[in-house]
Amino acid sequence: MTGIAGRTGRLRAQQNTKPREDGCERCVCCRRQVDIRKDTDIEFRPFYVEGAGQLCYDCYSELYGRS
Ligand SMILES: [Zn+2]
Repeated sequence: MTGIAGRTGRLRAQQNTKPREDGCERCVCCRRQVDIRKDTDIEFRPFYVEGAGQLCYDCYSELYGRS
């Protein structure tokens, strides 16, 4: 009963995760994936630092949040 259904399910799961990873930015500090697409204009990105790159919320608030 699990033969074909199990196989196609696993295959579909792999295909779903790959383009999402490729299309999303990573934090330049901790390398964690952030929920911002690479084709997003930098003017509309949260936590983007000119000259440094894309940061995640945690790194951004640690670097710039408290002053
Ligand atoms: Zn980070």
